[in-house]
Amino acid sequence: MSLIVQKFGGSSVADAERVMNVAGIITDTYRQGNDVVVVVSAQGDTTDDLIEKAYEINDKPSKREMDMLLTSGEQISIALLAMAIEKLGCPVVSLLGWQAGFNTSSAYGQARIKSIKSDRLKAELDHHNIVIVAGFQGINKYDDLTTLGRGGSDTSAVAIAAALHADRCQIFTDVEGVFTADPRKVKDAIKLHEITYDEMLELATLGAQVLNNRSVEMAKKYNVEIEVLSSLKRVPGTVVKEVAKMEKMLVRGVTKDTDVARISVTNIPNIPGIAFKLFSKLAQKKINVDIILQSVGRDDTKDITFTVSKDNAQTAIEAIKNTFDIEEKDIICDTSVAKISVVGAGMESHPGTASKMFEALFENDINIDMISTSEIKISVLIDINDADRAVLAVHRAFFNN
Ligand code: ADP
Ligand code: ASP
Ligand code: MG
Repeated sequence: MSLIVQKFGGSSVADAERVMNVAGIITDTYRQGNDVVVVVSAQGDTTDDLIEKAYEINDKPSKREMDMLLTSGEQISIALLAMAIEKLGCPVVSLLGWQAGFNTSSAYGQARIKSIKSDRLKAELDHHNIVIVAGFQGINKYDDLTTLGRGGSDTSAVAIAAALHADRCQIFTDVEGVFTADPRKVKDAIKLHEITYDEMLELATLGAQVLNNRSVEMAKKYNVEIEVLSSLKRVPGTVVKEVAKMEKMLVRGVTKDTDVARISVTNIPNIPGIAFKLFSKLAQKKINVDIILQSVGRDDTKDITFTVSKDNAQTAIEAIKNTFDIEEKDIICDTSVAKISVVGAGMESHPGTASKMFEALFENDINIDMISTSEIKISVLIDINDADRAVLAVHRAFFNN
């Protein structure tokens, strides 16, 4: 007998038929003699719809009330899924995040899991119940409901698998696994059988939303092997683990991220300490900066350009205005950009990956605006209108032979 954690995303439980399908997968696993804990997301586009409803009423809702609203999506899906399992004749109980013991930090909207008090989960398993847990949510020290950030149910599942030392952690979704590019956009994308935590973390951070990046971070920390697979087609998926077979691939994936804003600060004095002041101010505001470029301007000035996520752009601009005596015209923010990346541990030992990527872009007349590299990834910033074409071209360059 094994303890298996299964997570089902929003599209896997989008309507009654899909809920019954998922209930079938869960009860089959249970009837094979396993203990089963299930994490489920809100149905279909429920979370997006709830956000839209909030903004119809208030364009600046407090984060606390937003979390109160958004957690309701998962409350609906756990109850419906439990009812479907009851119908199939298995013992089941649904639990909200707080009932399942999820204690989080107090940062509404982006709370971090601090601990899982697993007594209730264990007691329900001892009573041979299938346990259905609401993903994406917990409770903070003020006894308020919190959410873990978009896509957070993946993290809920990995956290339970770690806390209960589960034998398996399966993330069911609407595609067959992790592919070399988004299989909905790139027809030739190849399913990976295995991938390392480090590569998956880069892919997830750089735009492959099939797994939430925090969930991969947590899986690596607690050594939880994740299996990503389809809830609609019973075929093997992708295993995410510490050491993975390379499958003779230099690059493991191509990603696109359009949640990027490029901010340029021009005409700043060319003296020491400017970059320090600027980026420490952004760090104080908890703004993550990605690509940074500094160049020498005219008349002993310099320009600094960097990228942040779109929702941090305005805060970043305000912070810069308050730090430097700077004219409005010297801060330029462009949100019509996209970041295209290639990821793969193999590139560390193979020169020429960057030139291959740049050649593919050049051949398709796509201009590169900024470049950043690490040991296992290369990212370029380009015009958002070229993004889909760029993904196809770069993917073709690495995988079509
Ligand atoms: P869920 O609702 O199950 O959490 P998500 O929509 O969050 O599902 O993630 C699954 C989606 O991720 C897929 O439908 C696919 O379009 C997208 N995706 C993007 N990049 C990749 C990739 N490299 N491999 C697989 N899926 C990807
Ligand atoms: N329902 C939440 C969201 O849409 C959490 C999740 O799906 O993982 O972001
Ligand atoms: Mg998801």
